[in-house]
Amino acid sequence: MSEDVIVIDGSYLEGGGQIVRTSIALSAITQKPVKIINIRKKRKNKGLSYQHIACVKAVKKLCNADVDGLYVGSEELTFYPNKISPKSFKLDIGTAGSISLVIQTLLPISAVIKKPTTITITGGTDVKNAPPIDYMKNVVLKVLSCVGVDANIEVLKRGFYPEGGGVVKLTLKPSKIKEIELIEHSEDKKVEGIAYAQNLTDDIPKRMRKSCSELLMKNGYLPNIKLENSKGISTGAGIVLWCDTVGESCLGEKGLRSEIVGKMAAERLLEELKSGMALDKYMGDQIIPFLAMGKGRVGVSKITNHTRTNIYVVENFFDVKFEIEEYNENGCNGHIIKTEG
Ligand code: ATP
Repeated sequence: MSEDVIVIDGSYLEGGGQIVRTSIALSAITQKPVKIINIRKKRKNKGLSYQHIACVKAVKKLCNADVDGLYVGSEELTFYPNKISPKSFKLDIGTAGSISLVIQTLLPISAVIKKPTTITITGGTDVKNAPPIDYMKNVVLKVLSCVGVDANIEVLKRGFYPEGGGVVKLTLKPSKIKEIELIEHSEDKKVEGIAYAQNLTDDIPKRMRKSCSELLMKNGYLPNIKLENSKGISTGAGIVLWCDTVGESCLGEKGLRSEIVGKMAAERLLEELKSGMALDKYMGDQIIPFLAMGKGRVGVSKITNHTRTNIYVVENFFDVKFEIEEYNENGCNGHIIKTEG
């Protein structure tokens, strides 16, 4: 193999699917081929799953890449990007695999496209261990707009595990990534959100909203949570909350009472807001590729293994060094992640 191929170790630290997603996106952006070994080594079901394959296929389509090792269970993948030529297309994950994670893969590519592109993705909108679609819409896009990303997410249908069937339209527009300085969270006390259900009774979102709002108000926040109840091929419920640039959520589960789901979402958000930092722990890992491209400093509530792992991947593609420092000023308690130009 050519010496110019970047080799990424998929077993590094978190050892999950994010290593694949970030590597593929950055390969397309930098036009550097990449070989990922030990894919998802730290997961029970090692290798690529449908969700990761969909992410690779989406980027492959945008940059006409040649790919070796793209199959379910594959533990080694080589991706040779070609010139990016934006085109609109449809992509079916084939399972309830997360649509948000496909979007996560594609967002950095907005930095290099020359014309708008719309991708319609079918799969899961609200699934475990992935960002709920309303988090992508209301937190990720909001934070990324501060670094210059111009994108839009339209939810046409919700999809839950196991049937999926969610449909989301992502539009990426040519974006100039710029420097960011976002350390402390605003004093904003307004919490917005959505309590949603599909194929369930109307009282479910209402009960989630009630318990959630009560706890938020008790803590001095002003909740404004919308209700949604839809029909679809899959069944589920959940609640997503956001306060300026910080978000949290709770997905409903069989046997978990709606009041508990609502209360858990509120507790999680309050815990994040307590740190006083601008970004929550999930955004902490998702901002990393943009911090490499645009430089700057962000404040995060917590440094996770996902964040450190994404830094490892990104430093392999860009001539950039990340630094992490503790931050305990003005009543805040968290970390700063910074890159220098
Ligand atoms: P695997 O199946 O290997 O665990 P994966 O493809 O699901 O992998 P991870 O590597 O675990 O991916 O990455 C999950 C991503 O989803 C991370 O970017 C993480 O920040 C994000 N994420 C997970 N849960 C949430 C949540 N509740 N809200 C927002 N983002 C989330």
